Amino acid sequence: MSFRKILVANRGEIAVRIIRACKELGIATVQVYSQADADSLPVMLADESVCVGPGAGKDSYLNVPNIVSAALITGAEAIHPGYGFLSETASFAEVCASAGIKFIGPPVSAIEAMGDKATARETAKRAGVPTVPGSEGIIASEAEAIKVAAGISYPVILKATAGGGGRGIRVVFSEDELIAALKVSQSEAAAAFGNADVYIEKYITSMRHIEVQILADEHGHCVHLGERECSVQTVRHQKVVEEAPSATLSHEQRLAIGAAAVKAAQAVGYANAGTVEFIWTPSGEFYFMEMNTRIQVEHPVTEAVTGIDLVQAQIKIAAGETLPFTQEDIRWHGHSIECRVTAQDPSRGFAPGAGRLTNVRVPGGLGVRVDTQIYSNYLMPPFYDSNLAKVIVWAETRAEAIARMRRCLDEFLIEGIPTNIAFLKTILDDPRYRGNDVSTAFLPTMMEELGMTG
Ligand code: ADP
Ligand code: ADP
Ligand code: MG
Repeated sequence: MSFRKILVANRGEIAVRIIRACKELGIATVQVYSQADADSLPVMLADESVCVGPGAGKDSYLNVPNIVSAALITGAEAIHPGYGFLSETASFAEVCASAGIKFIGPPVSAIEAMGDKATARETAKRAGVPTVPGSEGIIASEAEAIKVAAGISYPVILKATAGGGGRGIRVVFSEDELIAALKVSQSEAAAAFGNADVYIEKYITSMRHIEVQILADEHGHCVHLGERECSVQTVRHQKVVEEAPSATLSHEQRLAIGAAAVKAAQAVGYANAGTVEFIWTPSGEFYFMEMNTRIQVEHPVTEAVTGIDLVQAQIKIAAGETLPFTQEDIRWHGHSIECRVTAQDPSRGFAPGAGRLTNVRVPGGLGVRVDTQIYSNYLMPPFYDSNLAKVIVWAETRAEAIARMRRCLDEFLIEGIPTNIAFLKTILDDPRYRGNDVSTAFLPTMMEELGMTG
């Protein structure tokens, strides 16, 4: 059984990515779009398109009644939510189910279990997956916060249990700071996520962000596809450069962290594609951080080294198919790197921009993939995230992949609005990056050295 028609409830490059997967599977596509996206590439590529509201995301890509109606009217049997927007909203998955539409993602219960990050931490701990020292569940009072922080010692990190995308996180270095930060965090979390709850973890000063891609079918099989290294992040915890495999892990360590990810996924009855994020310490210990119950921005680096199309896998799993491979069948070959090209202006504190892209020339060649919605004369709307393109390269070795990426960034021309391309080149040229001598502190340090703010 497969689907005949899928509705894409997202925009930008990930919508293009999903449409491509559908086309190759012989599945018709319906693209929903906002008034600001009428001339967008996914609308041009899809078989059908339906306008679901004005530009602002809350009125269009988050407009559940309009999106579900669009699926019912066009006869779409399934909805792919992409990342962001409705992808981790359990109530949306529920509405889809009650309308007889398959949500291409995990069961509602798994979204709920992992969506609340404090609960997810407890679930992982119970399943025998190591977690960082911290609070048990959410912080109930100021006194509890003080006690937990004193117990694990400063610095500590406050996290909104409903947070995501690097938002709702605050590092605290002393008890004085803690009391003020707790109040601010709780009110910010209430405003941003509609949930004031926060929890506390020990802040690991020199960590790597290592995450594991998993795939599970609806018949109890679950495998991991290895790790991605995402330690190159801004001070606001936004990933900028990602790679697979991590040059830090041995094959044995890969299998161990992979098995831990599978354990965490199975603890919540997971199905479909998901990512378990870990903290990796300099001494090679790892701790569960959170699970993202959706396709991830940087999934192509895993596709490049495993040869597995993750979006097609998501669709087949949702259609009820059994995983066509076991853990032993998964092989990794070569090295892949992704750079996120954004419309951020380094000379203005990386402020996000928008406007007309008067000229676009995209890189290419052997081992190069560019996932993007942009083209010459494209008008970038101001309503959404600042991502312009993902450049993904593959080569036999990390050094060759870096050289290839560097060449691609030289080729990539975007005129009309400021971009971060020069900034990406600075990262690729840094000896610390080249030598894999990085932690999450690398990029903030590099930026400080260069007098950059943002
Ligand atoms: P992932 O967990 O897949 O690596 P992120 O955590 O970077 O992705 O992003 C999660 C969500 O945040 C995505 O839906 C994306 O649209 C949004 N996002 C990604 N990058 C940025 C950015 N630079 N600014 C604002 N939002 C972003
Ligand atoms: P989000 O849901 O916003 O993605 P995460 O829990 O995944 O939040 O954390 C985002 C980033 O914050 C991580 O990639 C890492 O850089 C940093 N971080 C999270 N927890 C810790 C910690 N305990 N110590 C140090 N850094 C952390
Ligand atoms: Mg995260």
